[in-house]
Amino acid sequence: MIRLPPREGLTGVERYGLDLLIDLARVPPVEDDSADVVRLLVAERDPGDPDLPTCIARDWYLERGDGVVRVPRVVLRRIADVAAATAEQRSAARDRHGRVPSRENLLVRHTCETDPVISRAAVGLRAAVIASAGRRPVALAAPWPDGRRWAAAFTHDLDVVAHWPVFTLLRVAELSRKGELRRVGRTLLAALSAVGHDPVGQAVRRVLDDERHYGVVSTWFVLCGTPTFATMRAGDLTYRPEAPAAVAILDELAERGCEIGLHGSFETGDRPERFAQQRHRLERLTGRPALGVRQHFLRMRPGATHCGMLAAGFRYDTTWGFPDRNGFRLGVADVIPAWDAIAERVIGLDEVPLCWMDRTLSKYAGIEDPRAWVAEGEALAQVCRQVEGLWVGLWHPNLTPALGFPDAPGAFHTLLDRLVAQQPFIGTLSAVVAWRAARRSIRVRRLTPDGRIDAHAPVRAALPLRLEDPGSRTLQTVNALG
Ligand SMILES: [Zn+2]
Repeated sequence: MIRLPPREGLTGVERYGLDLLIDLARVPPVEDDSADVVRLLVAERDPGDPDLPTCIARDWYLERGDGVVRVPRVVLRRIADVAAATAEQRSAARDRHGRVPSRENLLVRHTCETDPVISRAAVGLRAAVIASAGRRPVALAAPWPDGRRWAAAFTHDLDVVAHWPVFTLLRVAELSRKGELRRVGRTLLAALSAVGHDPVGQAVRRVLDDERHYGVVSTWFVLCGTPTFATMRAGDLTYRPEAPAAVAILDELAERGCEIGLHGSFETGDRPERFAQQRHRLERLTGRPALGVRQHFLRMRPGATHCGMLAAGFRYDTTWGFPDRNGFRLGVADVIPAWDAIAERVIGLDEVPLCWMDRTLSKYAGIEDPRAWVAEGEALAQVCRQVEGLWVGLWHPNLTPALGFPDAPGAFHTLLDRLVAQQPFIGTLSAVVAWRAARRSIRVRRLTPDGRIDAHAPVRAALPLRLEDPGSRTLQTVNALG
């Protein structure tokens, strides 16, 4: 726990940076100004205008004192700029799919996108609080439910339902260009024996069976527009969600307890008012609220698209990943509130950045061995574990032999096996978002004379919130009813 500096002395973006840092650090704010706990102060001396690598090299200029930790304002602004991808929000550059190119990202510019640098800054703050406390009590929020120290979420985008042989042919052309002739042969054999069957539905069921084996409940994103010849040619909408094959998949997902969110088609990226239409269409089909959204091809206008998502009633977005590389596009391995860098205000939507996607290495680095894809996902999961954060991975269920991906299903099974062995908290994205919102709301009212911590959490959690000591031993649970 920590006493914060007066908010009036900070600009909006500095407050956002501060709130982010203490939330990620798991140090709940103390409301009682007389409590003898570590105080966070804004440093009087500003270190000038250090760039990101300098901030990282200098441990974010966090100064430790007796019962005091100091942080410069410029550091709060740097943190906000990374976590809000301010440079990308301001950029007018677009790639051939209408996306902001990865080179516009500050972390990419400094080649540190495979490390969640903001999550690490928060780990640094926590260490500074513990080191500065002396005899003062230190209580931290436990990171995840059930005593778990990190979290993992498996997500899937449903891009292919109808016309599967077309996707097989496109993939065979891609593999041929790359000289992957053995994979071409295996694909054609698998495709021939799949004729008259339902390889897409079977692939979905195989993913679900693998997940059930490991106790994983996943989150799915489903396209909800009406395809035209133009959308099909662009790789945008290729199926109707009301088609029998799609409905069968949706039923199967509901039966397994999966969460179903919207996979926003290309037009929602340009015309955010279309989100509401697509969201309602999905809710009519599933009979449940669609809380989450991820853009197809990760195509969005950072900031503007997110305001459209909020207006359509979404609770969270999970589009912030790089299309062409795996890593942490917002510098965090966690859930954070979205920030509008143009209007300088909190958007009201939570961001759940994805850090790993199956096809990234294949599409952009020419690596066609699924074992290499999964090895990278696993390496990033280890990093998430180090910062007690969240790993979000995206696996496309259409990666199946008949559609051109002979070894992919086995690789997905390996990934599940390796990650689950590390005992993360595993949940749907809405469960993870709800937990983090509750954890973020923990406040310490006061310390009672008998040494107890009077803490409350205005946002209710489905699972008990706990306070722990610096050695991760439980101190007490938090009254979630406020
Ligand atoms: Zn997609």
